[in-house]
Amino acid sequence: MSDLNNNIKLAEQYLQRFRDNITTHYINGAWTSASGVDSFDNLTPIDNSPIGKIAAGRVEDIDAACDAAEAAFTGWRNTSGAERKKILIRFADLIEKRAEEIALVESVDCGQAIRFMRQAAVRGAANFRFFADKAPEAANGLSLYQAEHTNFTVRTPIGPVGIITPWNTPFMLSTWKIAPALAAGCTVVHKPAELSPLTASILAEVSEEAGIPPGVWNMVNGFGETAGKRLTEHPAIKAVALVGESRTGSMIMKQGADTLKRMHLELGGKNPVIVFDDADFERALDAVVFMIYSLNGQRCTSSSRLIIQSGIRERFMQALVERVKNLRVGHPLDPDTEVGPLIHSSHKEKVLSYMDIAREDGADITVGGGKYAGDNVDAAGNYVQPTLFTNADNAMRIAREEIFGPVLTAITFTTEEEAIQLANDSEYGLAAYIWTGDHGTAMRMAHKVETGMLWINSENNRNLPSPFGGIKMSGIGRDGGDYSFDFYMETKNICMAHGTHKVPQLGKNH
Ligand code: NAD
Repeated sequence: MSDLNNNIKLAEQYLQRFRDNITTHYINGAWTSASGVDSFDNLTPIDNSPIGKIAAGRVEDIDAACDAAEAAFTGWRNTSGAERKKILIRFADLIEKRAEEIALVESVDCGQAIRFMRQAAVRGAANFRFFADKAPEAANGLSLYQAEHTNFTVRTPIGPVGIITPWNTPFMLSTWKIAPALAAGCTVVHKPAELSPLTASILAEVSEEAGIPPGVWNMVNGFGETAGKRLTEHPAIKAVALVGESRTGSMIMKQGADTLKRMHLELGGKNPVIVFDDADFERALDAVVFMIYSLNGQRCTSSSRLIIQSGIRERFMQALVERVKNLRVGHPLDPDTEVGPLIHSSHKEKVLSYMDIAREDGADITVGGGKYAGDNVDAAGNYVQPTLFTNADNAMRIAREEIFGPVLTAITFTTEEEAIQLANDSEYGLAAYIWTGDHGTAMRMAHKVETGMLWINSENNRNLPSPFGGIKMSGIGRDGGDYSFDFYMETKNICMAHGTHKVPQLGKNH
């Protein structure tokens, strides 16, 4: 049996229970009843057929989850860091045990190629292990000395938090948020994206098996405008971490304003990859292709704007065209597939609409430009051709708007100043990539490009203690290591006198 057929068979076994039952909410340590609930079809991007029904969370479901998180907060906050660490390590072990199931289910649910989803499950476990190790020291603060006082700070968990995640790499992104929240001592209400909700249920099951007490982890399914909205408004929720589109970020800031919620927003991007004439040609080419065509281009850190120097341009573009033409589009469970179907038919239409926009703006479509059809895919699936726009300029919509598909816009530059100007001429500022053989160029660019994250001579490499996040319309706040704890915890300053200072005396000896 081929690897693809084998994967399909295995995935079907794991999916059967989702097909047979409405996927409900996990609240206060129990799955809610499916009887009488409103539900919606969950479609696979492979052929747009339903792979089960998902409960559409109502205000009362969200309220029940938030109330459970509030009730469980004191107990979890008072659980020692060492005990939280033990539970979270068990959690990581259990994710690893179910890694194959997670990868296969996620691949069918969101259309991402299995070669990348296997990594996502492993990285999910790594997120838990990393923050588990940090749990015992999360409360640590600073000691700040004055002549007659000593100040010291301690951190305490902020309270129940809402975590709202997108559809592009749902499992990995959820663990990235939830693991530090739990390690910090917060309780959690998670709302996964309505378009790829399945692995969130697996996570909730793992939480139970790992021994997370009832109410500490709650998961509610449903739509952003209803379930998500209520979560951002509920008074028990003290902070909201969102990964999603920029306009969703501004919406939830407004929704959370009345209850003064702390917000962490990881939003969209239109990230430049700047390739200088003196770059290592082959490595730069590999990275440029990988950072836009992997994960179907549905990746916040994708390098969707190639800014290429004029001296290397012709040779680089020739090689790039060959590589883009060679990309293997196919069924996401095929281990050979490099580009799978896009999440939803409406998203496919959105991506395809940029083909006309590119033509109208006067760019060339050098590779791709339409729907992908082939014997190896179902015609009803959301497949698009990997696409390369050339002769573009930075004023065009294809250079300004986040397309979120396997679509790259190439723009030429001559001088370093021009490269900086092009990179910064964007409403976004999430990630940037610089390819050059010259350290001076690299360092000048690193200081001048406006971005939250910048990689020099590398594709996106994640280091868990390092800060992850964007500026401008790409977001507010940072994830990773201690940055995550700063978000999920309050810092308290305690000031202690040495007993020597003069206390002001009012009302005495007038
Ligand atoms: P989205 O903004 O449509 O949805 C994200 C989540 O927000 C979903 O769970 C959705 O139900 C919820 N939501 C929508 N409206 C809401 C509301 N009014 N109140 C509360 N919740 C609401 O994003 P998407 O289309 O699922 O994901 C793609 C986007 O995510 C892209 O813009 C991408 O760049 C971004 N993203 C950013 C990062 C990052 O780290 N910066 C990582 C991955 C994805």
